[in-house]
Amino acid sequence: MAGITLHALTKVYPGGVRALDALDLEIRDGEFFALLGPSGCGKTTLLRAVAGLETATSGEVRIGDADVTRLPPGRRDVGMVFQDYALFPHMDVADNIAYPQRVRRVPRAERRTAAAGVAAELGLDGLLGRRPGELSGGQQQRVALARAMAARPRVFLLDEPLSNLDARLRLEARTFLKRLQNELGVTTVFVTHDQAEALAMADRMAVMEGGRIRQVGTPGEVFRRPANLFVASFIGSTPMNLLPARAAPGLASAGDGLVYGVRPEYLDYSDEPLDGAFAGRVAVVENLGSTSLVTLELGGDDGAGELVHVVVGEEREPRPGARGWARPRPGRAL
Ligand code: ADP
Ligand code: MG
Repeated sequence: MAGITLHALTKVYPGGVRALDALDLEIRDGEFFALLGPSGCGKTTLLRAVAGLETATSGEVRIGDADVTRLPPGRRDVGMVFQDYALFPHMDVADNIAYPQRVRRVPRAERRTAAAGVAAELGLDGLLGRRPGELSGGQQQRVALARAMAARPRVFLLDEPLSNLDARLRLEARTFLKRLQNELGVTTVFVTHDQAEALAMADRMAVMEGGRIRQVGTPGEVFRRPANLFVASFIGSTPMNLLPARAAPGLASAGDGLVYGVRPEYLDYSDEPLDGAFAGRVAVVENLGSTSLVTLELGGDDGAGELVHVVVGEEREPRPGARGWARPRPGRAL
């Protein structure tokens, strides 16, 4: 097993796109590490640079103690699952799983035995003779995973492996992947643009923007203590309230340009006045199932007009047009 260290890693594509910009990152041995960021921020490029499928323009990639920056993919000891799985349609499951070992000239009988072993671990036993076109999306995903695992690599690189699955399967696959990684203890980099997936699965995570890392931490740290406005607005299933500090209760004298942030989950709602609360009028109520998301328009009559979102438990039923108050829980505002 091995950690991964990226030092000043830069990738400029022909044509001039700077996909990775002097990026530093350390992923520890055995951890499940999520790499989160919007489309186009460089996530796939980063994985491909670790795998050796892209050559770094400058900087360094280390796996364990070894500098692998100039090594070809076959000598880096990594297994990669691609976003579209990249299975060979004309090969059966067994041959697909065994393919990387065929490239390494492992004898056929030996590699088919290894393939059958990995397939059994992933619940693919009955499917070895089928072709990818005869499998469900979830089964194809497991075949891609089995192919990455078959050679027992020191590092797994997973590029948005759940994005082609429907919502229910995605939840199952999340649990499956997490358990598998726990059992194998292989250093795993899991790329996603879905913040909920990253928060749910990662031991630690990095948030990326424009070829750079904007924050690294545990999901709890990144959620509760976002390092900057980009991370604050990108993380959270309901967007964080980000207001000019002068609009916040008790902060009327705060300097210009300061931003006050509080998550909708960390505001307590009341239909009666509360000390230290935002006061306003209920503009919109959205049902989220066991909770609702209430939009308060601050000031109401004197018309500050800022909007504040509050997650409200099912025991309360605010009505549009009513007066409402929302008080930040102690220590939860930034
Ligand atoms: P992500 O996986 O986060 O969506 P990518 O790593 O695929 O991001 O892309 C990062 C940036 O590099 C984007 O601007 C993308 O258009 C560009 N890019 C990706 N691959 C290539 C390529 N082969 N040639 C030129 N530009 C590329
Ligand atoms: Mg990508």
